[in-house]
Amino acid sequence: PELWSDHFNDFICKCLIKDFELRPNVLDLLQHVFIRQIVGRERILQKQLMELIDLNQQIGTTGKTRHERIHTKKGGQIMSSSPTPDEVDDLVTLEVLDEVRDSIEQLQRRYAKDQIYTYVGDILIAVNPFHKMELYSPQYTKMYIGAKRTANPPHIFAVADIAYQSMVSYNADQCIVISGESGAGKTESAHLLVEQLTVLGKANNRSLQEKILLVNNLVEAFGNACTAINDNSSRFGKYLEMKFTCGGTVVGAQISEYLLEKSRVVHQATGEKNFHIFYYIYAGLAERKKLAHYKLSDSKTPKYLFNEHIKLGPDIVNNTFYKEQFDSVEQCFKVIGFTLEELGSVYSTLAAILNSGDIEFTSVASEHQTDKSNISNIAVLENAASLLCIRPDELQEALTSHCVVARGETIVRPNTVDKATEVRDAMGKALYGRLFSWIVNRINTLLRPDTHLGEDDKGLNIGILDIFGFENFKRNSFEQLCINIANEQIQFYFNQHIFAWEQDEYLNEDVDARVIEYEDNRPLLDLFLQKPMGMLSLLDEESRFPQATDQTLVEKFEDNLKSKNFWRPKRVDLGFGIHHYAGKVIYNAAGFLSKNRDTLPADIVLLLRSSENQLIRKLVTHPLTKTGKHTWSNRNSGDTGTGETTHHPRESTNMRTQTVASYFRYSLMDLLSKMVAGQPHFVRCIKPNNDRQASKFDREKVLVQLRYTGVLETAKIRRQGYSHRILYTNFVNRYYILAFHAHKEPDASPETCAAILEKAKLENWVLGKTKVFLKYYHVETLNLMVRQTI
Ligand code: ADP
Ligand code: MG
Repeated sequence: PELWSDHFNDFICKCLIKDFELRPNVLDLLQHVFIRQIVGRERILQKQLMELIDLNQQIGTTGKTRHERIHTKKGGQIMSSSPTPDEVDDLVTLEVLDEVRDSIEQLQRRYAKDQIYTYVGDILIAVNPFHKMELYSPQYTKMYIGAKRTANPPHIFAVADIAYQSMVSYNADQCIVISGESGAGKTESAHLLVEQLTVLGKANNRSLQEKILLVNNLVEAFGNACTAINDNSSRFGKYLEMKFTCGGTVVGAQISEYLLEKSRVVHQATGEKNFHIFYYIYAGLAERKKLAHYKLSDSKTPKYLFNEHIKLGPDIVNNTFYKEQFDSVEQCFKVIGFTLEELGSVYSTLAAILNSGDIEFTSVASEHQTDKSNISNIAVLENAASLLCIRPDELQEALTSHCVVARGETIVRPNTVDKATEVRDAMGKALYGRLFSWIVNRINTLLRPDTHLGEDDKGLNIGILDIFGFENFKRNSFEQLCINIANEQIQFYFNQHIFAWEQDEYLNEDVDARVIEYEDNRPLLDLFLQKPMGMLSLLDEESRFPQATDQTLVEKFEDNLKSKNFWRPKRVDLGFGIHHYAGKVIYNAAGFLSKNRDTLPADIVLLLRSSENQLIRKLVTHPLTKTGKHTWSNRNSGDTGTGETTHHPRESTNMRTQTVASYFRYSLMDLLSKMVAGQPHFVRCIKPNNDRQASKFDREKVLVQLRYTGVLETAKIRRQGYSHRILYTNFVNRYYILAFHAHKEPDASPETCAAILEKAKLENWVLGKTKVFLKYYHVETLNLMVRQTI
């Protein structure tokens, strides 16, 4: 058997599956025998095949196979006649991986014992326990520092450690991508990673460490909300970069935020709530007897917060959890370095949004064709205006009328009740979105590492991506489309990294390896992102026509999108379907155009710019970041819509095209470029049931997630492939001390590499034309040995 190559093995496997249907146990055996074979010879001879089967029979009868799992196929059902294998920490070490059942079985049994983490090679699977785990105490923190991965059970801390060690060892940026559907545990995982990384980064300044840990809490109070699926659902995407010196000391952090779901400020679906901070501040201010100061009433619930759970003011003000959270958020603000004045302005802005939501309009007949609107509760208008530090009469005017310029003349036109309501809500959404971006930018300024880095130390970073998971609700709108496109892109990146690039490299380096088939979602990305005929481009094009409607938009999609992944369901008026990598989703295009245009009328912008409150003025005036780079944050400061063209000279030229879709496309590319620059690590969060119940493992639910995330194919390629490809020079430079004198670095030749690998007693590696090909577990062993040698 030593003579046969992987290719031969592969060939035989195929033969056996095809021609010897009843004997798949042979396959089991073959995989066992050949798993360590990497000799590049191919001999495909019938005779050898027959010999092998004989061999198998002998071994089979003497009972020498390691796992005697004999599967028989009956009517398409796979049955097992033998005991299931023991638990493994790493699914790659399972012998029969194409058996979906084995993987599920493993995860389920581990889950039952609270072993929520499992490896698939270098990827971590985390199954949400839905209850507090005794897994994150200081004892665990310590256990996972600098330890060999196989020495401890799989753990999220081990991922932090590997990323950190790789960053320091290779002097290279790292990126941890956390994915999974809503409620699967991404945000919790991100917290745990930050915690462990701050310990690893031994911040010599305790306050910095404390600040970094609080960043997540603060932005999540503003960016998370209770949804039907998750009580603490992230309504924005977050890329948190932890900054280190080249020596590995943590010196700061930066956040990028993506696609905050601003529409939630003015409207929430049944069973859902507004952003957490609104409830916290309401209860917190009540506790401090400050509601009146912020023009809020303890008996009447603001309309934006009113829902089936919260009908009355006391529902909020009596909630002790909210009060505690408010204290905690305020503490975060203070520790991170916000001034008291800034805090006061943040509270005023939030209170102004709540007050403005209560402004009511009534229709007044006018002598012209269109009806005018009047504000029926002037006291509320005055409250909102006073919090925004603007004049109430001007606010009234900006809400109930608008200016149009026709033939050089400015004409004031009245707004209907619907139009006025729309303007009011647009103001609330814009203020909140900009406030959020301002907070994020302020945090970035306060945690900027410049002051801690030396002159020549450019520093290193570890990025942690916690992006909203794939969503498929009863009703899916523009927000879901963007979220799902982002997930589609992340999945593509994952596929590229795990499958495509790996296979290209084998080809280039003449390394003999199997081709693994995987679900390539490139056609979907093209469907969305291609120019000029992709979905987002079509949406932008249609958004530029004032006469366009959501109906003309779906028709445009139908006429132009030629893809089997797109269809128009019958009997759903504005509906269209997309077959995503993670499943089929039916979208409803109602509101797509206005959500994409996302206009804030110029009258409102001009008015807010006259505010006496510095923060309010900032929100509508300055680009928020200093880098001059175009980010989401910038976008929120210089919003889209035509109304503001004149106010942001830097962006004015392309203001018309800067719709949500085009910003979204931009930020997706921006994110990707950051990710591609670093070495990736993947954490796949799995949701074991839809009821948020502890100890409930819904096999069907888990199976679907394993399937669409490509976890099973990943296991295969990790078992058969070489996840690490290191240039000879880099390899020798890093590891020669394991086999040679430390003071004299040998030539970077294949012979030197082989000598090092042999000295380290490693097996199953391959030398390509210019690179050493290693299995994921080799690198770990080598790094550990280097550390011990030094
Ligand atoms: P996502 O960000 O993927 O939407 P979250 O991280 O917010 O999901 O997790 C949803 C909920 O699941 C959390 O509020 C928490 O109750 C629970 N959870 C997730 N991960 C863990 C964990 N490691 N230990 C305990 N509970 C967890
Ligand atoms: Mg989350």
